[in-house]
Amino acid sequence: MSESVLEEIFIKRSQQKKKTSPLNYKERWFVLTQEKIAYYDFDADKRKRKGMRGSVDMEKIKCVETVQPEPNSPQERMYAFQIIYDEGPLYIFAKNEDVRAQWIKKLKEIVCYNKDFMQKYHPCFWADGIWLCCKQEVKQAMGCKVWDSKNGFRSKASQRGSGKPLPPTPTEEKTVRPLPPQPPETPSPSAGMTVIAEYNYAPMTSQDLELKKDEEYTILEMTDHNWWKARDKYGSEGYIPCNYVVEAENGLERFDWYSKNMNRSQAEKLLKTENKDGGFLVRDSSKAGKYTVSLLSKGVGDTGGICKHYNICTTAQSQYYLAERHFFSTIPELINYHQHNAAGMVSRLKYIVSNRALHPSTAGLGYGLWEINPRNLTFIKELGTGQFGVVKYGKWQGKHDVAIKMIKEGSMSEDDFIEEAKIMMKLRHENLVQLYGVCTKQRPIYIVTEFLSNGCLQMYLREGLTQHPTAVQLLEMCKDVSEGMAYLESQQYIHRDLAARNCLVDGNGTVKVTDFGLSRYVLDDEYTSSAGSKFPVRWSPPEVLLYCKFSSKSDIWAYGILLWEVYTLGRLPYERLNNNEIVDQVTRGLRLFRPQLANDKVYSIMSSCWLDKADERPTFQELALSIQDVLYELQ
Ligand code: ADP
Ligand code: MG
Repeated sequence: MSESVLEEIFIKRSQQKKKTSPLNYKERWFVLTQEKIAYYDFDADKRKRKGMRGSVDMEKIKCVETVQPEPNSPQERMYAFQIIYDEGPLYIFAKNEDVRAQWIKKLKEIVCYNKDFMQKYHPCFWADGIWLCCKQEVKQAMGCKVWDSKNGFRSKASQRGSGKPLPPTPTEEKTVRPLPPQPPETPSPSAGMTVIAEYNYAPMTSQDLELKKDEEYTILEMTDHNWWKARDKYGSEGYIPCNYVVEAENGLERFDWYSKNMNRSQAEKLLKTENKDGGFLVRDSSKAGKYTVSLLSKGVGDTGGICKHYNICTTAQSQYYLAERHFFSTIPELINYHQHNAAGMVSRLKYIVSNRALHPSTAGLGYGLWEINPRNLTFIKELGTGQFGVVKYGKWQGKHDVAIKMIKEGSMSEDDFIEEAKIMMKLRHENLVQLYGVCTKQRPIYIVTEFLSNGCLQMYLREGLTQHPTAVQLLEMCKDVSEGMAYLESQQYIHRDLAARNCLVDGNGTVKVTDFGLSRYVLDDEYTSSAGSKFPVRWSPPEVLLYCKFSSKSDIWAYGILLWEVYTLGRLPYERLNNNEIVDQVTRGLRLFRPQLANDKVYSIMSSCWLDKADERPTFQELALSIQDVLYELQ
């Protein structure tokens, strides 16, 4: 066995591989050798080490860095460091700064030859499904802080010749000195950064700035979550919708084939929607700092097609290659080559599939605008009638699609709603129906929202899907809703009436949640009282039926029922029972049966939403991850 370089007893944090498992912190005896870092049990008097509990091979390490302590962390957990390898971060707590710096330095010396260094890392912990630094909710999400791999040791080139590590450089010495408490990281992205427009944006108000696709802009101010102040290259300044731009980081942003921030299942969905043989895109890989080419391949007469995912590999000389070893010094050159040559892939890259075809919705129709002038609205057709009256499809300023709810007088407590609308306008997520604004200067008042051409999910399930929906399609719908709801949950916003009838479907088949929080403004006892005939009894958990206790956990219950609606293609839950019978039986433990289309995994997700004790039900964030796992298994 190789000789130990360092040994120390540290506190180790459990790796929380399962999101539901509680975190724990255990003392372990750590041993660092040239080959690996291993940790052991030890006897009570700390004199003898016992069985090995785990280890990480040095060659698998991609980053070694400090971690900022969590707010209010106990003294023994102030000096954390992370070792990042394939399975994520291993968090270790040293008893003081000197010991931590010593270990980081040694580790860096050993791993500095590793080829798979990450370009970015997370300076704070991953905890309960979220990166505390950048609030991203996917464990594999790319880091938010650039890792200077040279920090702490000399460049690889200069070391290679010398054979052994060189004496400390000035930057290295700095890390040994005790560090003052660090201020919180500035969130990435930040003011001053350069962004590239992914879409054109025509100003909707005089305060807005026009965006031209692929051009660069400087961000000046980010105080509003949705509208950032920016400057174009001619010096004009104004507000832009922040979801129309991406940070210019790697130079790929200006290529239509690059879909930043897209994951594997979103890529598959987009490629399958376009449904072209050889349709492709390039996206960030689940491995930080890497890229993946996703490609759809279809046989002759094949209706479906399969998606292949190829990682873009890098050589030690920083050259890029795909399936076979044809090397290029840049990714655009590599893509250009493969647009003409299959060279080891199922086909050449024939069609660029881009997520930029459809403009995303903006949080409002221009910066600061939430009172909409009804004269700018044209009514085109009636979409249906709901609790508040007629809903129409129309255009704003003759060109933007909108849905307009015309609020029947006496059906809504309007003043309260108008107050709330200002908050609702700020909620923006691709799986929430966007509120654009209101017309309150006349009666009836109007609520103007994003328009979704495929109408409500319940009808879409019952009639819309002519051919048999695939398992992936059904699960994608559930995933869409879980992500929209996870966003609401993160904003501590309770929906109170989640059901398939309150979800809408856009032209691409993406499902979005609507009417969140609106039930609080309904003036109709039949709807608001739990004994009323219009109360959503079938979507309500026992604590709502018995004590009207609404929470994110009552939304979770409703989400379970919504899953059941999806998997029965829109059947009425407990169809043979009336409301009184449902209250009686559900509070005594009755639950819905497993729909035929739902496999055991899907049914167990559904059932977890219907646990009697509200706090034992999962969160939306957890549900979104579980669904993602099932999706991966299907693909
Ligand atoms: P309410 O919330 O007043 O009960 P609904 O939301 O149920 O009204 O709307 C009535 C019908 O209008 C829905 O079933 C749906 O078909 C249609 N609809 C509502 N909003 C939209 C929208 N944003 N895009 C497309 N169709 C919509
Ligand atoms: Mg509704």
